[in-house]
Parts: sequence; C-alpha cells; structure tokens
Amino acid sequence: MSLSRILRWVVTNWLVTDPDLRLDEPRRNYHTKTPTNRAHIYICGGRFKSTKQWPIHVGVLVVIVAGGVLFWVFEASWLWHNVSPALVIIFSYLWFLTTMFMVKTAGCDPGFAPKNTHVSYSPHLIESKNHKPPDEFFSTVSLPYYNDTHGTTVKYCVTCHIWRLPRMSHCNSCKSCVYVHDHHCVFMNNCIGFRNYRYFLWFLLLAVLTSVMLSVLGWIHTYHYRISGRDNIDTFKDSISENPVAFLLALYGLCGFVYPAMLLIFHLFLSANNLTTREYLNFVRGTRHAPEDERYVNVYNTQSAWRNLWNAWWAMPQGVSSTDIRGRYKSGNLRHEPLKAFEAD
Ligand SMILES: [Zn+2]
Ligand SMILES: [Zn+2]
Repeated sequence: MSLSRILRWVVTNWLVTDPDLRLDEPRRNYHTKTPTNRAHIYICGGRFKSTKQWPIHVGVLVVIVAGGVLFWVFEASWLWHNVSPALVIIFSYLWFLTTMFMVKTAGCDPGFAPKNTHVSYSPHLIESKNHKPPDEFFSTVSLPYYNDTHGTTVKYCVTCHIWRLPRMSHCNSCKSCVYVHDHHCVFMNNCIGFRNYRYFLWFLLLAVLTSVMLSVLGWIHTYHYRISGRDNIDTFKDSISENPVAFLLALYGLCGFVYPAMLLIFHLFLSANNLTTREYLNFVRGTRHAPEDERYVNVYNTQSAWRNLWNAWWAMPQGVSSTDIRGRYKSGNLRHEPLKAFEAD
C-alpha cells in the first residue's frame, strides 16, 4: 500500500470523512453518506460530526481557548502569588468544564431518528424518479387527549420517510428528524435535541460563570493598586499600561458573558416549563393572548417547575443514539441508503 493511499485512507476514511474522496466500498454506516444526502462531516471515525455549514462552532471554541490561554500565560502566576492559588484552580476547572460541555453539545448526536423506517415501497423503487407516497402519508394523526382542541398531532416526514413522534421535528440543516427538537444552534453547528439539551444547558451556565470569573479576576488585577497600595502604581491609566492583558481579559469576560447569559435566562424559563424553543415560538407565543380555551396546552409540563428543572438539568437520561452511525454497514439497510424525498404535487 503506497504512502499516499495510506494517508488518504486515514484522512478521508477516518480523520475527516469526505464521501467525494472515499476509497473502497462503505464499511461503516457513516461511510454511506454521499454528496447528495450528507449533511455532516464525520470526524475521528464517526465519533464526532459537524453540520456542513460555516464552522462557527470552531470560532466559538477558539474564543474559549484564547481566553484560557491568555489567562494562564499572563494572569495565573500573578494571581497565584498575590491573591490566592484557589482562584487559578477554580477558574481552570470551570474553563475545562465549559470546553468539555461545548465539545459534547456540538459533537454528539442530538437524537437523530433513523431514516426510511416507514416505507411502503420495495427497494428497487428507491431511485425511481416518479414514485409518489400513498395518501395516508400526508395525513396528520391526532392522539387522544382530554380536550378535543388540544390533541397531540403526529405527522409523516416526507424527507426521512418516518412517522414523527410527538415533539420531533425535521431540521433542514441536519437533514434529519430530531427527538424533542429544541432548535438548530448555529454556534454549536448542531441541533439541540433530546440527547444534548442537558449538555447545552450546562454549557450556557458554565460559560456564564467562567466569563464572570475571568472578568472579576481581570478587574482584581487592574484595581489591585488601590486595594493593596503596594504596587507602586498611582493611577488607573498606569495600571492598564502596566497590566494590559488583565484589563483586556476583564473586558473579554464581560463581552463573553452577555449572549450566554441572555440564552441562559431564556432556557431557564423553558426548562422550568418543559417547553422546547420550537414549541414556545410556534405555539405558546402566538396563543398567549388568546381566550383560555384556545391557548396552547403543554401536556409535557409536570406542573412543578422544580421537577421540570430537575429533569432537564439532571435526571433525564441521555438515551442511546438510534442511528448507529459507526456500526458495520450492510448493503440494503434502508436506514443508511439514500432515498429520494417524496414530492407533493
Ligand atoms: Zn425528517
Ligand atoms: Zn440541525
């Protein structure tokens, strides 16, 4: 085997799977993605994946890592010797957790549903151009509920060829239906759904805490001349020119705090009500001012904010991934075969 072939095999079949450059027949399920049906790039043998869009999540990671590196290079030693080693240790731990929750949120399967599980056609029709779904595929089924107007509806997804479970919806960026779909997050470059919502919540909380701590530590160093009176610095201006990175990190932490904090407040409200972003925007917001009997009824609310919060932040199991993307590929497995979307006339 030539070196270029080995390199190509490692890089395009394992490190970053690019279907255009793939050698050999598919051996794992993630190898089957073709340029027309792929929504993701698979990394490290399918262990991580990223939606094929602008890699904004890499930018977010760079921002987080840059804050940490600047802190350790310029601030950690001073804080360790002049204030307390505990501050450096606590900040490092918070930073580590933030990074890990970000990687987990962005890289894991948010709860993609397996495709093509409700298909009434035989496999030889898969690539046929003119096949149409039976009429019932465009039906909506209402599950029974105590009130006629508030049934839970179940729809058929004509792209994934499955009946969607309640709370499931299709993401156009990920080209897949997602269990308990919250939203597609451009900053994570991944959907937020049943399997990674908890990681997302903890990422937001830890990003806020880490930013606040970074900013506070930066201000402590910047104003230390006033607090201790021992630094041979007389003015704020002198302090900034003496410790420019401390001042920069104080502002960096403040900027990094704003957006995660706004999202955190919104998601505290949602998780206390066991609502998804989708449900809130599509159903709750529009019916807020409607008469009582026309308002959206959230049947998933346990009626206890604490119980909802406990479930969302801690107790809800992550569940197993149902797409088995790293499993051995068997030819003819429709879950991983491209199947044309039905087109409605
Ligand atoms: Zn779908
Ligand atoms: Zn998505």
